Amino acid sequence: MDKKGKVAVLDKVRGRFTVKEYPLPDVSPGTVLVRIEYCGVCGTDVHTYYGKLADAPFPVVLGHEIAGTIIDMGSQVKKDFLGKPVKVGDRIVLVPAIHCKKCYYCTLAKTPSKCLNMISYGFLPLKEPYFTGGYAEYLYFFHPKTEFFKIDAPGEVALFAEPLAIAIHAVDRARIKPGQTAVIQGTGAIGLLTLICAKSSGATKVAVVGRRRKERLELAKELGAYLAINMEEIPEVKERIKIIKDFSATGY
Ligand SMILES: [Zn+2]
Ligand SMILES: [Zn+2]
Repeated sequence: MDKKGKVAVLDKVRGRFTVKEYPLPDVSPGTVLVRIEYCGVCGTDVHTYYGKLADAPFPVVLGHEIAGTIIDMGSQVKKDFLGKPVKVGDRIVLVPAIHCKKCYYCTLAKTPSKCLNMISYGFLPLKEPYFTGGYAEYLYFFHPKTEFFKIDAPGEVALFAEPLAIAIHAVDRARIKPGQTAVIQGTGAIGLLTLICAKSSGATKVAVVGRRRKERLELAKELGAYLAINMEEIPEVKERIKIIKDFSATGY
């Protein structure tokens, strides 16, 4: 392909983002080229920027909460990972991590997030094919095991699929049942999405504990939190636990 596309490259910890242009790759069997519509800024991206992620490669094209549309795809790509047929022009969301499906964690432990051979879009060192992260115009699914699925939601909603998956997983692991009380620590995107999922799972009372941004605590209330506790106003852990126990139906 003669066309070029832009990526925002972060050079080092606390470094600079520089927009660079590279030729768009030609698709080959099993690969997909996507025009990015939206990319979220994950807390992990911020941690990477500040050097809090041990193995982060630099320079890097960050961004893994991605919604976009297919503009070209290789001959073997017919379906998304849920089995729905896909074609050029379809909006898709990406599962950023690629797991080996062979190691102990992928097979026996069933915790692929600990996969020993995992690679992930948005965390790859800058090299060909360059379009490996969401802070860019295009994304290239160079790995044939890349999982993505078609979505009908508008791009600005589809973008939440990846962080929403984390929230659903958290609620799933907590095994929240109708009528129960839940406590969510943190009012970032994941915390607020977890609140929505906990309510959808039937939790009657959900308490949210947050700091820093007061408007997020207000948003938590709008989204159905029964209690929104500001850690700065109630810094004592024991006191926060007491408040939550007092409002819970069962004392927990
Ligand atoms: Zn993330
Ligand atoms: Zn694995």
